[in-house]
Amino acid sequence: MRSISTPDELQRLHFELSAAELRQLPSDRGREVAFAGRSNAGKSSALNAITGRKGLARTSKTPGRTRLLNFFRLDAGPALVDLPGYGYAKVAAEVRAGWDELLGGYLKKRRSLYGVIVIMDCRHPLTPYDRMFLDFCRAARRPVHVLLSKSDKLTHSERLKTLRTVERALAAQSADFSVQLFSAQNGEGIDAARAVIRDWLGLAATMDKKSPGNKGKDSGAHE
Ligand code: GDP
Repeated sequence: MRSISTPDELQRLHFELSAAELRQLPSDRGREVAFAGRSNAGKSSALNAITGRKGLARTSKTPGRTRLLNFFRLDAGPALVDLPGYGYAKVAAEVRAGWDELLGGYLKKRRSLYGVIVIMDCRHPLTPYDRMFLDFCRAARRPVHVLLSKSDKLTHSERLKTLRTVERALAAQSADFSVQLFSAQNGEGIDAARAVIRDWLGLAATMDKKSPGNKGKDSGAHE
């Protein structure tokens, strides 16, 4: 049964908790959508723009929380989960091991996890770290929707070229991967990203307009 929603429902998300270990995760019920990306890819800006809550992701950036899984819940229902930014080259081996266990365990085992939003800077998408993360999501059978962030930094033709290139690369990987252009700055693709997230969270559709960069998402895999 789908819940009744309002267009600005995502604005009601509130910080629930941060988890440093798998046993600290909230109970594995309902639906979750996780946000991932290399640090500095624009994940916090995307989270803020999509939820319409400017300060939401600031919570995840407070000292001590950047390596944790941060949960933002809608009332007692579905949640968005801000995953730690990946691609830190200088993290000590033992810190990295604990972190891989947390992130890997979450992605592999979490029943509530409906899909992963992966943010990549459109000026240099599909870095080796991104590819590793996408491989992991595919192995864990998680649908992925990529936001090519900071699209305002490219010209129209560069944007389309990047979109096609990444679309082709993802199509070769999995049928369950989709991609769109996104800018937290000028608003490109925000409605399209919201539509994917609302669908994954089981929230009723709104009158959100599709952006031309959105390839759409078949989320029927879980239904
Ligand atoms: P995070 O580390 O992945 O959470 O990235 P942030 O959201 O903190 O963004 C990293 C940098 O990119 C900041 O300087 C942002 O102002 C900038 N940024 C994020 N989104 C956009 C965007 O849509 N357009 C532009 N031009 N800059 C952006």
